[in-house]
Amino acid sequence: MSGIYVHIPFCKSKCIYCDFYSIAVPSLIPDFCKTLKKEIVSRRNTLSDNQIQTIYFGGGTPSILDTDEIKGILDEIHANYNVNSNAEITLEANPENLCHQYLAELRHTGINRLSIGIQSFHDETLKFLKRRHNASKAIESIKEAAECGFDNISIDLIYGIEGLTCEQWEKELDKAFSLPISHLSCYCLGIEEGTLLHRYLCENKYSPTDEDNCLRQFLCFDEKSKENGFDHYEISNAGKPDRHSRHNSSYWDRTEYLGLGPGAHSYYANSRTWNVADVKEYIRCINEGKECLTSENLTPSDIFEESIMLGLRTFKGIDIDEIGRSFGNEKSGKLKDAIKGLNPAHYRFDGKCLSLTAQGMFVSDSIIVKQIQEAI
Ligand code: SF4
Repeated sequence: MSGIYVHIPFCKSKCIYCDFYSIAVPSLIPDFCKTLKKEIVSRRNTLSDNQIQTIYFGGGTPSILDTDEIKGILDEIHANYNVNSNAEITLEANPENLCHQYLAELRHTGINRLSIGIQSFHDETLKFLKRRHNASKAIESIKEAAECGFDNISIDLIYGIEGLTCEQWEKELDKAFSLPISHLSCYCLGIEEGTLLHRYLCENKYSPTDEDNCLRQFLCFDEKSKENGFDHYEISNAGKPDRHSRHNSSYWDRTEYLGLGPGAHSYYANSRTWNVADVKEYIRCINEGKECLTSENLTPSDIFEESIMLGLRTFKGIDIDEIGRSFGNEKSGKLKDAIKGLNPAHYRFDGKCLSLTAQGMFVSDSIIVKQIQEAI
């Protein structure tokens, strides 16, 4: 079983915090779509298992494409890969693109899951983040999507923004759960180099929210998810029991996936591969029949470390016996020793499965990961 990720590298403008590869040159879209179809064909024998369970259009802003372009890309995938009839097919979308007509047409392209970039239900915050929608458009787009027949809707929200109080964040979450969504992703605002937010930070125009506040908001996300019948199944993701993101779950399970489009990453045959993150260069290379890929082979020790770190992002955690079977008893023994050094408030271990508590998960990217890495 495998997945396909399609990167649509176009946005109307850049959000303040974003370091994903995207450009605001819509005139390149027709050539990009033609080239993407060529790449879909040329890489059709890449995956060892051609049975595709998930397809994910990410970006950028995939909803910048018109529905005929999306349908054309999906048709090309169907013509060249064995896509399971029950496949989860997600499109990331921005509220400003989601009018009734677009959603109604999209419903007939084969897209059966929407991931809508809401980020906030607060107009001032949306303005600060340089999003292109306001709160009422955000709400309308979710309701409209449900009315058009989408029954698997995910939304993204951002917390840990300077000035966002825990009370306001609680209201944001209440608003989200009052809408027809089945999945919620919440991200703590990060400040990445090269972004406008980073520049504000350097110019003392922005001060990051303190860690305690972020932790409180993360724990609020955890509590509210449970209260509303959502499983908080991964550090940033919560969903109804039958609505976990199958595509993203496959990243954490280390299932093979093929990434298509400029800047897209793939994982197969124990290697990580990525396309050149430059639309013009991508179009030129593919059309000249040249490769624009860089690859990195993973050593057994890379694979072991990845299995631990990705597994610990999920509330399911990691099965130590399974680790022993895959990597040998010496490795599983070291891992057991590493557990002894962890703060008891940060993990659960029943002798077989190691998972992090909500609090542990929040610090997992720093303290716990470092502690385990050092020990193994
Ligand atoms: S719409 Fe998404 S991909 Fe585009 S700039 Fe904003 S956050 Fe980045």
